[in-house]
Amino acid sequence: MTSSSHTVVWFRRDLRIRDHAALIAAARRGPVVCVYYLDEARWSPTSAIARQLAGPRVGAFRTRFLIESLAALRTSLRELGADLLIRSGAPSQGLPSLLREVGASALHFHADIGVEEDRETAAVRDAARAAGVRVEEFWDRTLVPPEDLPFAVAHTPESFSSFRKKIERDRAYAAPLPAPTQLTTAAGIEPGALPTVTQLAGVDADDHPDALVPMHGGEPEAWRRLQRWCWDEDRLKSYKQTRNGMLGGDYSSRFSAWLAHGCISARSIQAEVDRYERERTKNESTYWMTFELLWRDYFQWITCKHGAALFRSSGLQGIPVPWDHDESRFARWSEGQTGFPIVDACMRELSATGFMSNRGRQIVTSFLTKNLGIDWRWGAEWFERLLIDHDVGSNYGNWNYGAGVGNDSRGFRYFNLATQADKYDRRGAHAQYWCPELRRLAPEYVHAPWSAPERALADAGVAIGRSYPAPMVDLEKSAARNRARWERAVMV
Ligand SMILES: Cc1cc2nc3c(=O)[nH]c(=O)nc-3n(C[C@H](O)[C@H](O)[C@H](O)COP(=O)(O)OP(=O)(O)OC[C@H]3O[C@@H](n4cnc5c(N)ncnc54)[C@H](O)[C@@H]3O)c2cc1C
Repeated sequence: MTSSSHTVVWFRRDLRIRDHAALIAAARRGPVVCVYYLDEARWSPTSAIARQLAGPRVGAFRTRFLIESLAALRTSLRELGADLLIRSGAPSQGLPSLLREVGASALHFHADIGVEEDRETAAVRDAARAAGVRVEEFWDRTLVPPEDLPFAVAHTPESFSSFRKKIERDRAYAAPLPAPTQLTTAAGIEPGALPTVTQLAGVDADDHPDALVPMHGGEPEAWRRLQRWCWDEDRLKSYKQTRNGMLGGDYSSRFSAWLAHGCISARSIQAEVDRYERERTKNESTYWMTFELLWRDYFQWITCKHGAALFRSSGLQGIPVPWDHDESRFARWSEGQTGFPIVDACMRELSATGFMSNRGRQIVTSFLTKNLGIDWRWGAEWFERLLIDHDVGSNYGNWNYGAGVGNDSRGFRYFNLATQADKYDRRGAHAQYWCPELRRLAPEYVHAPWSAPERALADAGVAIGRSYPAPMVDLEKSAARNRARWERAVMV
């Protein structure tokens, strides 16, 4: 169909044209064919745990965000003179015939991390080589590329602090690459249609009326968010003070979903932080954004280093905690019916919007593993389904950490719900937002409605055990029981 000089660019979690090394290198070689494989198998539960939870592995919000990101990428590529082909099925099955169809001489793509992703990469690499096509792999998942790390990936420090200190010693974050200005492509190839959210996820994703920040996919959306949050509203300068917020859309950057889908690169964000420091303000808040991006890097490298160990119930440390697998108790956690408003509000927010604050994620992780004693992987898989920003390294790495079985975990670190509520939702505004049945309760009782006087409950129309659940555990006793169990497992 075409001359043999085409380079096929296989898009994965890199749905952008700026700072896209694989695309830029391909454009330099000549005409390109850009393709994305929507592998429906990714929506099917794979593990026994996920099958028990019932429902798709990728929920409606993340599916919508992905489809929007693909549509935006297609528009950008068309504006440059190319297109984005959408194909279904596994890339290793489909790519060989596409490579033949376009007479490709090379295949470019970015590497991805994770056990399944590694398997996919290897299958594609082998299939392309068997078809006689040169394969070039690029790296874009981290702020610091592997060749600039001051250690081999296999020697990534186990503690975040020593990882960060080693990285910061050099502190040379490469500048992002510009987008190509023009592309040429093969004519006459059927582009393929984008599926609907319902076709993939089984249900549609409607913005919940209470969602404070409806998040939509695509590279232009990522840059709009960055422009508004950093520059127009000048929020970066106070990020360190606001970042532990729970209610609202702007206490933190919300970059995570765009980063997870590769609509923007970490290097591009860092370059904007550097520019902000030069042109506006340089302070501990601007540094803190880099600090958080390094947490993200850290979990990517830990995932590369440890592979399948990240997914063991005993975690990276191999602590054989005999976790519980109680489905009805898990359902109360996942549905936001635990009887603890700070937990329930976070879990309901997640289901309704596909997002939860970092503070909330730490609180509900602690509750599931330290109070209910339930297998942390159930929680991680629930997050995997619902989070728009799901990222294998960040999700499973943080769950390992929070469950007390990760590297660099701080032992049995239990979050006291009353203290958390007092520090991060003192007047109960977040709890009342997502638990409307508590909205008329006086602020001092919102986080412990079971302790409110009869009169206060009656006036607010709250009936514990009927309009709002009774607490499902005794916090102190359950934490003590799970601590003892964890300590016994550590001794094994
Ligand atoms: C149990 C648990 C599961 C998590 N799962 C994910 C996940 O699947 N995907 C994901 O992107 N983040 C995950 N996080 C990390 C963090 O909660 C989110 O990155 C953050 O809340 C996203 O909001 P933001 O972009 O406004 O963050 P900001 O506070 O604005 O931070 C800026 C960026 O730094 C990175 N970052 C911040 N904190 C962390 C962290 N603890 N670990 C890794 N990167 C971080 C993110 O890329 C984030 O976008 C998880 C945290 C916990 C405790």
